Amino acid sequence: MSKLVAFAAIQGGYKVVSTAEGEYKNALETFNADSKIEFPNTGYYLPVIYSLTGMKVETLEDIKEPLEFARGLLPPHVKGKNHLPYLGPLLDAGMAAIFAYEIIEALRILREPDFYIAQEDPDIEAGKIWVGPADDVILRKRGVEFVDGSAPGFAAIVGAAPDPETAKMIVEDYQKKNLYIFCAAKHNGTSVIEQLIQAGVQIGWNTRIVPFGPDISSAVFALGFANRAAMAFGGVQPGDYKKILHYNKDRVFAFVNALGDIGTEWGVAAAGCVNWGFPTLADTDIPEILPTGICTYEHVVANVSHDEICQKSVEIRGLKVAVSEIKIPCSFGPAFEGERVRGADLFCQMGGGKTQATELVKMADMKEIEDAKVEVVGPDIGDMKEGGTLPLGIYVQVAGREMQTDFEPILERQIHHLINYIQGIMHIGQRDIAWIRVSKAAIEKGFTLKDIGVVLHAKFHQDFGKILDKVQVTLYTDKAEVDKLTKRARAEYKFRDERVEKMTDEDVEIYYSCTLCQSFAPTHVCSVSPERTGLCGAYNWMDCKASYEINPTGPNQPIEKGECIDPVLGQWKGVNEFVNKASRGAITHYNFYSMVIDPMTTCGCCECIAAMLPGCNGVMTVGRDYTGETPCGMKFTTLAGVMGGGASSPGFVGHSKFNITQGKFIKGDGGLLRMVWMPKILKEEIKERIEKRGAAMGMPNLYDMIADETVGVTEEEILPFLQKKGHPALKMDPIVG
Ligand code: SF4
Ligand code: ZN
Repeated sequence: MSKLVAFAAIQGGYKVVSTAEGEYKNALETFNADSKIEFPNTGYYLPVIYSLTGMKVETLEDIKEPLEFARGLLPPHVKGKNHLPYLGPLLDAGMAAIFAYEIIEALRILREPDFYIAQEDPDIEAGKIWVGPADDVILRKRGVEFVDGSAPGFAAIVGAAPDPETAKMIVEDYQKKNLYIFCAAKHNGTSVIEQLIQAGVQIGWNTRIVPFGPDISSAVFALGFANRAAMAFGGVQPGDYKKILHYNKDRVFAFVNALGDIGTEWGVAAAGCVNWGFPTLADTDIPEILPTGICTYEHVVANVSHDEICQKSVEIRGLKVAVSEIKIPCSFGPAFEGERVRGADLFCQMGGGKTQATELVKMADMKEIEDAKVEVVGPDIGDMKEGGTLPLGIYVQVAGREMQTDFEPILERQIHHLINYIQGIMHIGQRDIAWIRVSKAAIEKGFTLKDIGVVLHAKFHQDFGKILDKVQVTLYTDKAEVDKLTKRARAEYKFRDERVEKMTDEDVEIYYSCTLCQSFAPTHVCSVSPERTGLCGAYNWMDCKASYEINPTGPNQPIEKGECIDPVLGQWKGVNEFVNKASRGAITHYNFYSMVIDPMTTCGCCECIAAMLPGCNGVMTVGRDYTGETPCGMKFTTLAGVMGGGASSPGFVGHSKFNITQGKFIKGDGGLLRMVWMPKILKEEIKERIEKRGAAMGMPNLYDMIADETVGVTEEEILPFLQKKGHPALKMDPIVG
């Protein structure tokens, strides 16, 4: 804060208090000292003064005390000397001005009892547009919306826009965000309210555009309204100024937009609002006030352009906006999540082994992306024929002051169920093995790929508004672009996976649950430990931890592992208790490190499914992207169909690709040394890691000993190969006891 700002605003404080004193003196000459002072039909006296100081102003005489109090708040004003370069004196001056403004308004009502109309909506035909302080009926009806969240807060607009169209644009932006718009003061002889009337916009409490009054002092009605709501609904006691101001700072998302020249009188009002935690954004070159922790972010921001002022205000105040409506042609909601798109209903598809489909969420800089922007790069569904396929890259960029790269995987994992929420669209898998099936019914309704972006934007705001402010979605269907994104995404996945590389299960006392998949597999509970990432591959221990931080009541809960029941198979008392509860009694216990004895439950998302091969005394595993036969006699899709419903199926377990080379992978069954068959594509993908893990287990040649489909797809076909290679599984204890 520059010393000059403080000086100008403090000067404004003196000016406003002096004006109030002058008007008070005049009033005492005209009216009896016991004349009644009130805001009609309200029960809170002069509400700002009453709420903050406990002083009850009921008569003209009663004004003396708060007025003296206001003067006392003004910081020492020695001409020629600089004021202290911190915020305290400025806030005090601001508060003094707010008290004085409330007194000025009360005196106006004493002089002109009919100046304001005591009703919800203005009477424009009668030329009476200013509604003045809300009576208690309006307070009860509207104030509760601030409490229940149907109105997140208000935008107080003072002054006037350059023209009616701009005024309309700004105000409609706020209406869309469900905010109230409280208007006061004029600039260049007009006000936002008069401009809105010219532009044909309906004003009044009913449209949430409230014409409080024509002067800057009328802005005090907004603060009075906020403080009355805090007393009425927040149970805050009058005089408890700390609680009142905190309540507003934390609960009422409000800010000021100053449109037009800021004189010292507006400046001091802006400073006053900082006491409430309400920042001011101006369209002029007002000196800025930098953060010190009172407002959520900046206090006063200058030179904001009109087309930016809404988004900027919302960002600066830290307001989280609910996008309530999801504008797509299909029905949408959890009710459609479990619905399938079967062969006969299928119009077209992306991914699923037919084409590449990849999903990536990345954090971006606030300035780099545009909220709600959705772009399709390449052909869209309209360009396709029935039975067609397209490659697809879903690239979501998110920005927010609370966003962290650690949250990316959590947001990315939401894509699965959010796309499934669209009626007639089915989503399977995640990361670079996604699969989207679009039904004929959805096409008939007019579904296009763009709608995926619309859904992700809206739902990310709704569900993760706490951490993000902007969401931009790009949908690539151009093959080269999809391949480019996939390459980049794989590097990201690798980086994320390896964040838990050095951790062991013994290192932590807390594991995390994941029940995100219960809508498909009601008894399924993933327990995620450092050495057992979620079977979808998208959630590791770190991700679950971050997810719990964002959403403490969400699908990822900490599990105190508690007493160890079996260190070899990996079973803990605390986990069992949790799983029993989370599966509603269907699963009483399971083992982390065994697929043979009571393995973890499996859902349809798993990247791979491992199966026992008793004839080879080993196990095999198969990934989603291999569609051929396997030595266990079942293809991946058959295995997923049989195991994927949330049951614990001894002899089989779903797991992630990364998990194959984690230290505890089926450790209780002999670990990775049991692995006798994998499809080539999977084996090659994790070649380096198999070699590393094999070496760590004393078998540097393990990679070469694992058979694949080029060796055979039955146990009989691969056994001679294993014998020839001297596969370690053949010398282990029998896999079935
Ligand atoms: Fe969560 Fe497991 Fe589903 Fe992955 S597979 S989203 S970890 S429940
Ligand atoms: Zn799942």
